Amino acid sequence: MKVAGRETRKRPARTAHDPVAQAAVASGLLAWYARAKRDLPWRRSADPYRVWVSEIMLQQTQVERVKDFFARFVARFPDVASLAAAREPEVLRLWEGLGYYRRARQLHAAAQQIVADHGGRFPRTAAELRMLPGIGRYTAGAIASIAFDEREPIVEANSRRVIARLVGHDGPLGSAADDEPIWEAAARLLPPRQPGRFNQALMDLGAMVCTPERPLCGTCPLAGQCVANRAGLVADIPRKAARRTVERRHETAVVATRRGRVLVVQRGAGEWWAGLWDFPRVPGRATRAAGGIAACARLGALRCGPPERLGTVVHTVTHHRITLDVVRCAAGRTEAAATDRRWVTPRQLAALALTSPARRIARLLLP
Ligand code: SF4
Repeated sequence: MKVAGRETRKRPARTAHDPVAQAAVASGLLAWYARAKRDLPWRRSADPYRVWVSEIMLQQTQVERVKDFFARFVARFPDVASLAAAREPEVLRLWEGLGYYRRARQLHAAAQQIVADHGGRFPRTAAELRMLPGIGRYTAGAIASIAFDEREPIVEANSRRVIARLVGHDGPLGSAADDEPIWEAAARLLPPRQPGRFNQALMDLGAMVCTPERPLCGTCPLAGQCVANRAGLVADIPRKAARRTVERRHETAVVATRRGRVLVVQRGAGEWWAGLWDFPRVPGRATRAAGGIAACARLGALRCGPPERLGTVVHTVTHHRITLDVVRCAAGRTEAAATDRRWVTPRQLAALALTSPARRIARLLLP
Protein backbone atom coordinates (compact mmCIF):
# COMPACT_ATOMS: atom_id res chain seq x y z
CA MET A 1 0.00 0.00 0.00
CA LYS A 2 1.12 3.50 -0.72
CA VAL A 3 1.37 5.35 2.56
CA ALA A 4 1.52 9.12 2.58
CA GLY A 5 4.42 10.93 4.07
CA ARG A 6 6.54 13.95 3.21
CA GLU A 7 10.09 14.31 4.29
CA THR A 8 9.39 17.69 5.85
CA ARG A 9 6.47 16.32 7.83
CA LYS A 10 6.55 14.28 10.98
CA ARG A 11 6.14 10.57 10.28
CA PRO A 12 3.29 9.03 12.24
CA ALA A 13 4.41 6.87 15.16
CA ARG A 14 2.24 3.98 14.00
CA THR A 15 -0.42 3.35 11.46
CA ALA A 16 -3.89 1.95 11.91
CA HIS A 17 -2.61 -1.42 10.65
CA ASP A 18 -1.07 -2.70 13.83
CA PRO A 19 -3.23 -4.82 16.18
CA VAL A 20 -3.28 -2.27 18.98
CA ALA A 21 -4.49 0.48 16.64
CA GLN A 22 -7.04 -1.90 15.12
CA ALA A 23 -8.60 -2.56 18.52
CA ALA A 24 -8.52 1.15 19.35
CA VAL A 25 -10.17 2.02 16.05
CA ALA A 26 -12.94 -0.53 16.60
CA SER A 27 -13.67 0.42 20.20
CA GLY A 28 -13.53 4.17 19.51
CA LEU A 29 -15.71 3.92 16.44
CA LEU A 30 -18.31 1.59 17.98
CA ALA A 31 -18.61 3.76 21.11
CA TRP A 32 -19.09 6.84 18.92
CA TYR A 33 -21.66 5.00 16.79
CA ALA A 34 -23.68 4.00 19.86
CA ARG A 35 -24.27 7.64 20.74
CA ALA A 36 -24.18 9.37 17.34
CA LYS A 37 -25.54 6.99 14.69
CA ARG A 38 -28.06 8.24 12.18
CA ASP A 39 -31.66 7.16 12.68
CA LEU A 40 -32.43 5.68 9.27
CA PRO A 41 -35.66 3.82 8.47
CA TRP A 42 -33.91 0.73 7.10
CA ARG A 43 -31.87 0.35 10.29
CA ARG A 44 -34.89 -0.36 12.46
CA SER A 45 -34.50 -4.07 11.80
CA ALA A 46 -31.77 -6.34 10.47
CA ASP A 47 -34.14 -7.79 7.87
CA PRO A 48 -31.84 -8.64 4.92
CA TYR A 49 -34.56 -7.66 2.44
CA ARG A 50 -34.78 -4.12 3.86
CA VAL A 51 -30.99 -3.83 4.08
CA TRP A 52 -30.76 -4.93 0.45
CA VAL A 53 -33.44 -2.56 -0.89
CA SER A 54 -31.91 0.39 0.97
CA GLU A 55 -28.39 -0.42 -0.21
CA ILE A 56 -29.50 -0.63 -3.84
CA MET A 57 -31.40 2.66 -3.54
CA LEU A 58 -28.45 4.36 -1.86
CA GLN A 59 -26.19 3.62 -4.80
CA GLN A 60 -25.93 7.00 -6.56
CA THR A 61 -28.78 8.55 -4.52
CA GLN A 62 -28.57 10.72 -1.40
CA VAL A 63 -29.78 9.34 1.93
CA GLU A 64 -32.42 12.03 2.47
CA ARG A 65 -33.90 11.40 -0.95
CA VAL A 66 -33.96 7.63 -0.47
CA LYS A 67 -36.02 7.76 2.75
CA ASP A 68 -39.42 8.43 1.08
CA PHE A 69 -38.75 6.06 -1.81
CA PHE A 70 -37.76 3.33 0.61
CA ALA A 71 -40.93 3.78 2.69
CA ARG A 72 -43.16 3.60 -0.40
CA PHE A 73 -41.30 0.64 -1.85
CA VAL A 74 -41.38 -1.58 1.22
CA ALA A 75 -45.01 -0.61 1.92
CA ARG A 76 -45.94 -1.98 -1.51
CA PHE A 77 -43.39 -4.82 -1.56
CA PRO A 78 -42.78 -5.79 2.07
CA ASP A 79 -40.72 -8.91 1.30
CA VAL A 80 -38.88 -10.84 -1.39
CA ALA A 81 -41.98 -12.84 -2.36
CA SER A 82 -44.14 -9.78 -3.06
CA LEU A 83 -41.38 -8.14 -5.09
CA ALA A 84 -40.75 -11.32 -7.08
CA ALA A 85 -44.47 -11.63 -7.89
CA ALA A 86 -44.76 -8.01 -9.13
CA ARG A 87 -44.85 -6.99 -12.77
CA GLU A 88 -41.79 -5.03 -13.89
CA PRO A 89 -43.70 -1.87 -14.93
CA GLU A 90 -45.03 -1.50 -11.41
CA VAL A 91 -41.54 -1.89 -9.95
CA LEU A 92 -40.24 0.75 -12.37
CA ARG A 93 -43.14 3.06 -11.57
CA LEU A 94 -42.23 2.96 -7.87
CA TRP A 95 -38.60 3.59 -8.77
CA GLU A 96 -39.45 6.62 -10.84
CA GLY A 97 -37.49 9.65 -9.64
CA LEU A 98 -34.59 7.61 -8.25
CA GLY A 99 -32.99 7.22 -11.67
CA TYR A 100 -30.60 4.48 -12.77
CA TYR A 101 -33.47 2.11 -13.51
CA ARG A 102 -31.15 -0.79 -14.13
CA ARG A 103 -30.96 -1.07 -10.35
CA ALA A 104 -34.73 -1.61 -10.14
CA ARG A 105 -34.71 -4.24 -12.88
CA GLN A 106 -31.89 -6.13 -11.23
CA LEU A 107 -33.59 -5.90 -7.83
CA HIS A 108 -36.70 -7.42 -9.36
CA ALA A 109 -34.72 -10.14 -11.17
CA ALA A 110 -32.78 -10.99 -8.01
CA ALA A 111 -36.00 -11.32 -6.00
CA GLN A 112 -37.29 -13.77 -8.60
CA GLN A 113 -34.02 -15.70 -8.42
CA ILE A 114 -34.18 -15.89 -4.61
CA VAL A 115 -37.68 -17.33 -4.88
CA ALA A 116 -36.75 -19.75 -7.68
CA ASP A 117 -33.34 -20.93 -6.41
CA HIS A 118 -33.51 -20.43 -2.62
CA GLY A 119 -37.19 -21.06 -1.89
CA GLY A 120 -37.64 -17.37 -1.04
CA ARG A 121 -35.04 -17.52 1.76
CA PHE A 122 -32.36 -14.85 1.58
CA PRO A 123 -28.81 -16.21 0.97
CA ARG A 124 -26.75 -15.62 4.12
CA THR A 125 -23.18 -15.31 2.85
CA ALA A 126 -21.50 -12.65 0.74
CA ALA A 127 -20.32 -15.32 -1.71
CA GLU A 128 -23.89 -16.54 -2.33
CA LEU A 129 -25.26 -13.00 -2.46
CA ARG A 130 -22.81 -12.07 -5.20
CA MET A 131 -24.40 -14.67 -7.45
CA LEU A 132 -27.55 -12.53 -7.62
CA PRO A 133 -28.13 -9.85 -10.30
CA GLY A 134 -27.09 -6.35 -9.23
CA ILE A 135 -25.29 -7.46 -6.05
CA GLY A 136 -21.60 -6.68 -6.20
CA ARG A 137 -18.81 -6.75 -3.68
CA TYR A 138 -20.03 -3.77 -1.66
CA THR A 139 -23.73 -4.71 -1.49
CA ALA A 140 -22.95 -8.34 -0.68
CA GLY A 141 -20.64 -7.23 2.15
CA ALA A 142 -23.22 -4.80 3.48
CA ILE A 143 -26.06 -7.36 3.56
CA ALA A 144 -23.88 -10.19 4.91
CA SER A 145 -22.32 -8.08 7.67
CA ILE A 146 -25.38 -6.07 8.70
CA ALA A 147 -28.05 -8.77 8.46
CA PHE A 148 -26.00 -11.92 9.18
CA ASP A 149 -22.94 -10.68 11.13
CA GLU A 150 -20.54 -12.12 8.58
CA ARG A 151 -17.08 -10.58 8.87
CA GLU A 152 -17.11 -8.89 5.46
CA PRO A 153 -15.62 -5.46 4.75
CA ILE A 154 -17.38 -2.80 2.71
CA VAL A 155 -16.02 0.12 0.74
CA GLU A 156 -18.30 2.85 -0.56
CA ALA A 157 -17.88 6.61 -0.96
CA ASN A 158 -17.92 7.49 2.75
CA SER A 159 -15.99 4.56 4.18
CA ARG A 160 -13.46 4.80 1.32
CA ARG A 161 -12.59 8.34 2.35
CA VAL A 162 -12.42 7.52 6.07
CA ILE A 163 -10.18 4.50 5.54
CA ALA A 164 -7.91 6.32 3.09
CA ARG A 165 -7.32 9.06 5.67
CA LEU A 166 -7.12 6.67 8.57
CA VAL A 167 -4.33 4.61 7.00
CA GLY A 168 -2.76 7.52 5.11
CA HIS A 169 -3.38 6.17 1.61
CA ASP A 170 -2.76 9.03 -0.81
CA GLY A 171 -2.99 7.10 -4.09
CA PRO A 172 -5.80 7.61 -6.61
CA LEU A 173 -9.20 6.13 -5.72
CA GLY A 174 -12.35 5.16 -7.56
CA SER A 175 -11.47 2.31 -9.91
CA ALA A 176 -11.50 -1.32 -8.79
CA ALA A 177 -7.68 -1.51 -8.96
CA ASP A 178 -7.17 1.81 -7.17
CA ASP A 179 -9.59 0.83 -4.40
CA GLU A 180 -8.02 -2.56 -3.75
CA PRO A 181 -5.66 -1.25 -1.02
CA ILE A 182 -8.68 0.29 0.70
CA TRP A 183 -10.54 -3.03 0.63
CA GLU A 184 -7.50 -4.69 2.14
CA ALA A 185 -7.30 -2.07 4.88
CA ALA A 186 -11.06 -2.35 5.51
CA ALA A 187 -10.68 -6.12 5.97
CA ARG A 188 -7.77 -5.65 8.39
CA LEU A 189 -9.62 -3.06 10.45
CA LEU A 190 -12.82 -5.10 10.75
CA PRO A 191 -13.25 -6.38 14.32
CA PRO A 192 -14.18 -10.03 14.91
CA ARG A 193 -17.40 -9.00 16.66
CA GLN A 194 -20.11 -6.63 15.42
CA PRO A 195 -18.75 -6.28 11.88
CA GLY A 196 -22.09 -4.93 10.65
CA ARG A 197 -22.18 -2.17 13.25
CA PHE A 198 -18.55 -1.37 12.52
CA ASN A 199 -19.27 -1.03 8.79
CA GLN A 200 -22.27 1.19 9.41
CA ALA A 201 -20.23 3.27 11.85
CA LEU A 202 -17.55 3.85 9.20
CA MET A 203 -20.20 5.07 6.76
CA ASP A 204 -21.78 7.35 9.36
CA LEU A 205 -18.41 8.76 10.36
CA GLY A 206 -17.73 9.59 6.71
CA ALA A 207 -21.14 11.22 6.32
CA MET A 208 -21.09 13.21 9.56
CA VAL A 209 -17.49 13.80 10.71
CA CYS A 210 -14.90 12.76 8.11
CA THR A 211 -16.61 14.75 5.36
CA PRO A 212 -15.00 15.49 1.98
CA GLU A 213 -14.44 19.15 2.84
CA ARG A 214 -13.52 20.42 6.31
CA PRO A 215 -13.67 17.15 8.27
CA LEU A 216 -14.26 17.60 12.00
CA CYS A 217 -10.99 16.07 13.15
CA GLY A 218 -11.21 17.93 16.46
CA THR A 219 -14.23 15.86 17.50
CA CYS A 220 -13.40 12.64 15.63
CA PRO A 221 -13.23 9.46 17.73
CA LEU A 222 -10.38 8.22 15.51
CA ALA A 223 -8.24 11.37 15.63
CA GLY A 224 -5.58 9.64 17.73
CA GLN A 225 -5.21 6.72 15.31
CA CYS A 226 -5.66 8.63 12.05
CA VAL A 227 -2.46 8.76 9.98
CA ALA A 228 -3.64 11.69 7.83
CA ASN A 229 -4.54 13.71 10.90
CA ARG A 230 -1.26 13.01 12.65
CA ALA A 231 0.78 13.74 9.52
CA GLY A 232 -1.13 16.89 8.53
CA LEU A 233 -2.35 15.31 5.29
CA VAL A 234 -6.10 15.48 5.73
CA ALA A 235 -6.58 18.06 2.98
CA ASP A 236 -4.51 15.93 0.54
CA ILE A 237 -6.41 12.66 1.04
CA PRO A 238 -8.25 11.43 -0.88
CA ARG A 239 -6.42 12.71 -3.92
CA LYS A 240 -8.68 14.94 -6.02
CA ALA A 241 -9.85 13.30 -9.24
CA ALA A 242 -9.88 15.21 -12.51
CA ARG A 243 -13.37 16.49 -13.21
CA ARG A 244 -15.24 15.02 -16.12
CA THR A 245 -16.28 17.62 -18.68
CA VAL A 246 -20.00 18.24 -18.91
CA GLU A 247 -21.36 17.97 -22.45
CA ARG A 248 -24.20 20.36 -23.25
CA ARG A 249 -26.71 19.85 -26.01
CA HIS A 250 -30.17 20.78 -27.22
CA GLU A 251 -33.03 18.41 -28.03
CA THR A 252 -36.71 18.87 -28.76
CA ALA A 253 -39.48 16.78 -27.21
CA VAL A 254 -42.70 16.53 -29.18
CA VAL A 255 -46.06 16.15 -27.49
CA ALA A 256 -48.16 14.82 -30.36
CA THR A 257 -51.87 14.99 -29.48
CA ARG A 258 -54.87 13.31 -31.01
CA ARG A 259 -58.41 12.98 -29.66
CA GLY A 260 -57.41 13.79 -26.09
CA ARG A 261 -54.44 11.43 -26.12
CA VAL A 262 -50.70 12.00 -26.36
CA LEU A 263 -48.06 9.86 -27.98
CA VAL A 264 -45.33 8.24 -25.85
CA VAL A 265 -42.51 5.97 -26.94
CA GLN A 266 -40.68 3.33 -24.94
CA ARG A 267 -36.94 3.69 -24.60
CA GLY A 268 -35.14 0.76 -26.16
CA ALA A 269 -32.48 -1.55 -24.74
CA GLY A 270 -29.11 0.16 -24.60
CA GLU A 271 -30.66 3.64 -24.46
CA TRP A 272 -30.79 5.84 -21.38
CA TRP A 273 -33.85 4.89 -19.28
CA ALA A 274 -34.35 1.61 -21.19
CA GLY A 275 -37.90 0.33 -20.72
CA LEU A 276 -39.33 3.66 -19.54
CA TRP A 277 -41.72 5.82 -21.51
CA ASP A 278 -40.77 9.19 -22.93
CA PHE A 279 -42.05 11.75 -25.38
CA PRO A 280 -40.50 11.45 -28.84
CA ARG A 281 -37.38 13.54 -29.24
CA VAL A 282 -35.27 14.93 -32.03
CA PRO A 283 -31.84 16.51 -31.80
CA GLY A 284 -31.58 20.28 -31.92
CA ARG A 285 -33.68 23.25 -30.90
CA ALA A 286 -37.41 23.53 -31.52
CA THR A 287 -38.15 24.80 -34.98
CA ARG A 288 -41.06 23.99 -37.15
CA ALA A 289 -38.88 21.69 -39.20
CA ALA A 290 -36.97 20.04 -36.38
CA GLY A 291 -39.50 20.18 -33.56
CA GLY A 292 -42.80 19.35 -35.18
CA ILE A 293 -42.92 17.72 -38.51
CA ALA A 294 -39.51 16.08 -38.56
CA ALA A 295 -40.04 14.34 -35.24
CA CYS A 296 -43.46 13.05 -36.12
CA ALA A 297 -42.36 11.88 -39.54
CA ARG A 298 -39.70 9.80 -37.82
CA LEU A 299 -42.50 8.10 -35.87
CA GLY A 300 -44.56 7.18 -38.89
CA ALA A 301 -45.61 10.21 -40.94
CA LEU A 302 -48.18 11.57 -38.52
CA ARG A 303 -48.59 14.79 -40.47
CA CYS A 304 -48.59 17.07 -37.49
CA GLY A 305 -49.80 20.63 -37.49
CA PRO A 306 -47.52 23.56 -36.63
CA PRO A 307 -45.79 23.08 -33.28
CA GLU A 308 -46.80 25.18 -30.30
CA ARG A 309 -44.07 25.85 -27.79
CA LEU A 310 -44.87 24.58 -24.27
CA GLY A 311 -41.68 25.32 -22.39
CA THR A 312 -38.16 24.13 -21.69
CA VAL A 313 -36.95 21.31 -19.44
CA VAL A 314 -33.28 21.16 -18.51
CA HIS A 315 -32.01 17.82 -17.22
CA THR A 316 -28.81 15.92 -16.69
CA VAL A 317 -27.99 12.33 -17.68
CA THR A 318 -24.56 10.98 -16.75
CA HIS A 319 -22.27 13.83 -17.86
CA HIS A 320 -24.71 15.30 -20.40
CA ARG A 321 -26.66 18.45 -19.65
CA ILE A 322 -29.62 18.59 -22.00
CA THR A 323 -31.80 21.59 -22.72
CA LEU A 324 -35.06 20.15 -23.96
CA ASP A 325 -37.46 22.40 -25.86
CA VAL A 326 -40.99 21.07 -25.52
CA VAL A 327 -43.51 21.57 -28.33
CA ARG A 328 -47.02 20.31 -28.84
CA CYS A 329 -48.58 19.54 -32.19
CA ALA A 330 -51.84 18.03 -33.34
CA ALA A 331 -51.36 14.75 -35.18
CA GLY A 332 -53.47 14.30 -38.30
CA ARG A 333 -53.62 10.51 -38.26
CA THR A 334 -52.10 7.68 -36.28
CA GLU A 335 -49.40 5.40 -37.51
CA ALA A 336 -49.44 1.63 -37.48
CA ALA A 337 -49.58 0.06 -34.03
CA ALA A 338 -46.26 -0.82 -32.40
CA THR A 339 -45.35 -2.20 -28.99
CA ASP A 340 -42.90 0.61 -28.29
CA ARG A 341 -45.37 3.47 -28.74
CA ARG A 342 -48.74 4.27 -27.27
CA TRP A 343 -51.44 6.91 -27.41
CA VAL A 344 -52.44 7.49 -23.81
CA THR A 345 -54.86 9.66 -21.90
CA PRO A 346 -53.59 11.99 -19.14
CA ARG A 347 -54.83 9.47 -16.55
CA GLN A 348 -52.84 6.66 -18.19
CA LEU A 349 -49.84 8.97 -18.40
CA ALA A 350 -49.96 9.41 -14.62
CA ALA A 351 -49.80 5.64 -14.10
CA LEU A 352 -47.04 4.97 -16.66
CA ALA A 353 -43.35 4.55 -15.73
CA LEU A 354 -41.98 7.71 -17.33
CA THR A 355 -38.48 9.09 -17.60
CA SER A 356 -37.96 11.96 -15.15
CA PRO A 357 -37.93 14.61 -17.95
CA ALA A 358 -41.12 13.09 -19.39
CA ARG A 359 -42.76 13.38 -15.96
CA ARG A 360 -41.83 17.05 -15.91
CA ILE A 361 -43.25 17.50 -19.39
CA ALA A 362 -46.45 15.76 -18.27
CA ARG A 363 -46.79 18.43 -15.60
CA LEU A 364 -46.60 21.11 -18.33
CA LEU A 365 -49.69 19.51 -19.85
CA LEU A 366 -51.80 19.93 -16.75
CA PRO A 367 -54.47 22.65 -16.97
S1 SF4 B 1 -9.20 12.45 12.28
FE1 SF4 B 1 -10.07 13.68 10.65
S2 SF4 B 1 -9.31 12.76 8.76
FE2 SF4 B 1 -8.96 11.28 10.38
S3 SF4 B 1 -10.75 9.95 10.32
FE3 SF4 B 1 -11.18 11.55 11.81
S4 SF4 B 1 -12.23 13.18 10.69
FE4 SF4 B 1 -11.27 11.80 9.19
